[in-house]
Amino acid sequence: MQIIADLHTHTNVTDHAFSTLTEMVQAAHDMGLKAIAITNHGPTNPDGPHEWHFSNLNLVPRKMNGVTVIRGIEFDITAPSGGINVMANKSLKHIDWALASFHECLFPPADRSIHTAALESILYNPYVNAFGHLGNPNFDFDHEYIISRCNERGKVVEINNASLNVRAGSKKNCADIARMCMKYEVPIVVDSDSHICFRVGHVEGALEMLEEIGFPEELIINSSMARLDAYFKGRGMDLFSGEE
Ligand SMILES: [Zn+2]
Ligand SMILES: [Zn+2]
Repeated sequence: MQIIADLHTHTNVTDHAFSTLTEMVQAAHDMGLKAIAITNHGPTNPDGPHEWHFSNLNLVPRKMNGVTVIRGIEFDITAPSGGINVMANKSLKHIDWALASFHECLFPPADRSIHTAALESILYNPYVNAFGHLGNPNFDFDHEYIISRCNERGKVVEINNASLNVRAGSKKNCADIARMCMKYEVPIVVDSDSHICFRVGHVEGALEMLEEIGFPEELIINSSMARLDAYFKGRGMDLFSGEE
């Protein structure tokens, strides 16, 4: 099992990340990746860039050093009802790929029913492609209730390699979530959540866990160019024309 794109990374416009856009793309190239999504935090996250970062994303070349650059964001799920960072339409229009994640700074951990309700509202949010790092044990939720509905709402689930390292207790949650995705045939992405170039494409722990539970490669969107291209084409975006 392998990934050919890393769909969750931060550049140094996120204050607690350390590498530039060019360094991150170079790292993706060096890791043999075909694509990288730059997914900085939303502008209302205390660590996020100004909103103009997102309204200017069209300046970023579609391809750098042979690597397709996917223009992304990691929205914060906002308490208590499960909104996302408020942004003007012009800031949203260049975004190809959006994760939505719980972060303690904008969603103080509450209880299972509140977390589940917030995720349910994200199911209906047209700007969100995927749930980011759902395995955080601070945000317990009803796995089956949310994941069983992802396909009808066109949502993807992320298995986040950084969670396995930095969020204690994530591994069991991530495995449970992945098993639920298997049961309901929900597509996933496997990402590094890199905050520095040296981590780009490193998802070894997540892939190992997925192999342990027998997760089918066909459900991992970023495991092949054909699958990644089909996902974006299914959403009306031709990001990789001419590539295998
Ligand atoms: Zn996050
Ligand atoms: Zn992140």
